[in-house]
Amino acid sequence: MAPHTPVLFTAVRTADGRLADQLTADGRIVAFDPPDGPPTGCVTVEAGGALALPSPVDAHIHPDKTTWGGPWLSREPARTLGDLIEGDVRARARIPGSAAERSGALMDAAAAHGTRAMRAHVDVAPVYGLSAVHGVRAAADARTGLLDVQVVAFPQLGLISRPGTAELLARSLGEGADILGGLDPLGVDGDQDGQLDFLFGTAVREDVPLDIHLPDGTPVGVRQLTEIARRTVDAGMEGRVTVSHAFCVADLAGDELAATARLLAESGVALTTCALGADPVLPTGVLTGHGVLVAAGSDGVRDAWSPFGDGNMINRAHLLAYRTDARTDDELVACYDVVAQGGGRPGGPRSGASQRVALK
Ligand SMILES: [Zn+2]
Repeated sequence: MAPHTPVLFTAVRTADGRLADQLTADGRIVAFDPPDGPPTGCVTVEAGGALALPSPVDAHIHPDKTTWGGPWLSREPARTLGDLIEGDVRARARIPGSAAERSGALMDAAAAHGTRAMRAHVDVAPVYGLSAVHGVRAAADARTGLLDVQVVAFPQLGLISRPGTAELLARSLGEGADILGGLDPLGVDGDQDGQLDFLFGTAVREDVPLDIHLPDGTPVGVRQLTEIARRTVDAGMEGRVTVSHAFCVADLAGDELAATARLLAESGVALTTCALGADPVLPTGVLTGHGVLVAAGSDGVRDAWSPFGDGNMINRAHLLAYRTDARTDDELVACYDVVAQGGGRPGGPRSGASQRVALK
């Protein structure tokens, strides 16, 4: 069936609980219970009361690291972020299959569960070169029309503290990456200004968005977040900067949380949360209530960091609701909204990238 063929899904259950016939064309919903009936050439599909939901966006995933589709990987014990990073490098040499094969298998699984777009954080380091960026880009290009994929060049092993990485990051933007990534300017690099000078300077020069991993907790995390917000406004990059994880925000409460939320909303800095295991999860309700764009993602899926994850964002919405103790219908809907819409709004993964990704 050609992608533009109109399709009438009969008896779908809409978000407000009623049954309706849903007409789609060119991949978009055009009407419920179309008054003139289905158009000529329309294909009819009996939905049988299945729930119709907006498809989710995976706003933070690491497909180059995954073992998806491959054999079991036994993980090393790890107590610190440094242990995990070093174990990741050692494991990578043992994982069979190319980055293109493994990430492609994960993309197919995500698309099969309804994911329409993903922001892929892909390792860039002297030990890997740009091989992972090339592999994930090739997998994404092979799935054009199925899934929109943005590639973030991610300095997992450090940026300023890992000589040669900055040059590779800059090069990656011409070789498959859409977005420049960062990682704990203080916690990993120990050089806040050094990392942020490079990131913002390159982002402005190359006209690309930024997505910075910030697992640092309070108070250093908040200090970095505040500086990122200040530089975002100075650089005129409102709506083009995302901070991933931002565990420090989860540590805040009351007036401090409200003030940080206002700062993020005013500077157009979005946040991404993954609702992982024992990690802090963002107070999504408070943040969105202040106008902060919050999206959700899988993070690592069955890689050297974790044996968990499945790239299924419906399950991620469940985890987000569970971790934030959602109970009421409104709270549950708000969690799904973060997963389905947070990544698709202005400034989110579907709209902040360069022209490389087909943004429909
Ligand atoms: Zn990540």
